[in-house]
Amino acid sequence: MSNDENTPVLRGCIKLPLANDELLEVTSKAKDYAIMHGAAMRSKTAFSPDSLNFAPFVLVPSSFPRKEFEKAIALQPIINRLMHNVAHDEEFITTTLAETIKVDEFTANLFNIYRKVLAHGFTQRISLGMLRSDLMLESCCPELSPMLHHVENNMAASTATAAAPAPATTTTVAAATAGGGGDDDDDVAEANGKVDNVGIVRATKSAYCCWKQVEINTIASGFGHLGPASKTIQSFVLRELGHAEKLKHMPKNDALAGLCDGMVKAWDIYGKPESVILFIIEDISYNICDQRFHEFYIRETYPHIKVLRRTLTEVHREGKLGQRKELLLGTTEVAVIYFRAGYEPAHYPTQGEWDARYLMETSLAIKCPSIHYHLAGTKKVQQALAQPAVLERFINDPEEIKAVGKIFTGLYSLDDNDAGNANYEMALRTPEKFVLKPQREGGGNNVYGVDIPDALKRMTRVERSAWILMDLIHPPLSQGYMVRPGSEMPPQIVDMVSELGIFGVVIGDADTIVHNYQAGHMLRTKLSTANEGGVAAGLGALDSPYLIDSDGEEGYY
Ligand code: ADP
Ligand code: MG
Repeated sequence: MSNDENTPVLRGCIKLPLANDELLEVTSKAKDYAIMHGAAMRSKTAFSPDSLNFAPFVLVPSSFPRKEFEKAIALQPIINRLMHNVAHDEEFITTTLAETIKVDEFTANLFNIYRKVLAHGFTQRISLGMLRSDLMLESCCPELSPMLHHVENNMAASTATAAAPAPATTTTVAAATAGGGGDDDDDVAEANGKVDNVGIVRATKSAYCCWKQVEINTIASGFGHLGPASKTIQSFVLRELGHAEKLKHMPKNDALAGLCDGMVKAWDIYGKPESVILFIIEDISYNICDQRFHEFYIRETYPHIKVLRRTLTEVHREGKLGQRKELLLGTTEVAVIYFRAGYEPAHYPTQGEWDARYLMETSLAIKCPSIHYHLAGTKKVQQALAQPAVLERFINDPEEIKAVGKIFTGLYSLDDNDAGNANYEMALRTPEKFVLKPQREGGGNNVYGVDIPDALKRMTRVERSAWILMDLIHPPLSQGYMVRPGSEMPPQIVDMVSELGIFGVVIGDADTIVHNYQAGHMLRTKLSTANEGGVAAGLGALDSPYLIDSDGEEGYY
């Protein structure tokens, strides 16, 4: 991950470090609290279906600017509508993916299902979208942020700092000016090892200038339970540490209810009292809490609705269509299908799993996502959406177009044409500015910075069109304790960066949207040195936002 000595640091929620005894005690308690409140996962290294480890978490919430958070929340229904319209634009999906499906077999298989469904007509016109728009604060907009100029001026004054690359722990403390005394600033900076060797620690207005969308997920958007669960753990920790008054700055998070209610609304629309909601799951669900809590919420809140869990392989074995093209598992009719698997090639080990996907797609069940929603969530479609004037095709209101346009960072096609080839050259010239992404979900697939040229050179011109290029976002740092199963106790203070996900639910058909709402959020935080931060993948940690204002009253500084 690209961060250097100039990367600003968001001020923390409480003063760190904690005294060793206090830290040990609260961390041990928090680990147990996490397991006992379902902030847990199955171990990959010592797997047992009968036991859970706590999921990695950040001990106290990471700061996030209130205004930016509220902007993201307010924008979500517009993003929902955008994605709904994109999913229903056959021409746009088809032309956008035309080059990609020539070389990307997985996307081509999805597209073939789409093509067949289009040819026969949609049995179910209603789709259930449960989206998650992921975003990061950007700290590197020179035109917007006075901070960088300021730091550069200071750096220029210091040969010691300017000449040699600073150690990773040397950063500037930004957002630390308003209201506070200089002593406090220095306290935090020193406590966190952040005073650089010429003592530049302040005088900047903001640690970020805006946020940028990392990606939008239309399939298996996780953390509906773990998002709210993170808030529960961190609220407990703050109370234990005597900071109950800080809890008011942690926004409410009803993601689990919002998402499950979306499934139930779809079930209501389907209108068959005996029908069930089907979760499509992987062969082994490590992230089990983030699925079972959905199931248990539905069972407890709506006891008349049954939930089944099946793998694609099982659906292939047991599933068939009835006379009205209803999906039947044995004699049980399925109203709603919620895919928590099916987004990566490994989920389709044989043609049987693809046949199962097609069977479900042609059925009367309401899918989350339906195949066109799945395709609308591909990276290639996201790249196409970020091109000038494309949004106008999907959004009428000029203000909304402007607001959505601002969240895109540079996204570039690598198709085999003049523009794509110019982008390829640009990536070779300045790879450190970019991330290279294939049409995959689930983390661990991207190529970053200096690794890009080699990766690109290994591809043929045509193969490149399976990938897109994206500007690297530079989020500000936060500092805190990351707690992981099996890691040293007490934890050390580390530099971290966060990624916020906003959930949205949208239900409707090509002509009408019947439900559209924002449905809570999640925050994932990773070490600032890690490229990717998947929690299930073992790199990220559960977190939740602690909202700070630019006047700085609610934070410690
Ligand atoms: P996936 O579908 O595999 O989740 P993402 O596009 O979300 O793919 O990328 C995975 C991770 O890589 C993100 O969660 C984020 O940590 C990092 N990442 C992706 N795009 C960028 C970017 N433009 N700038 C910085 N980090 C990024
Ligand atoms: Mg992602």
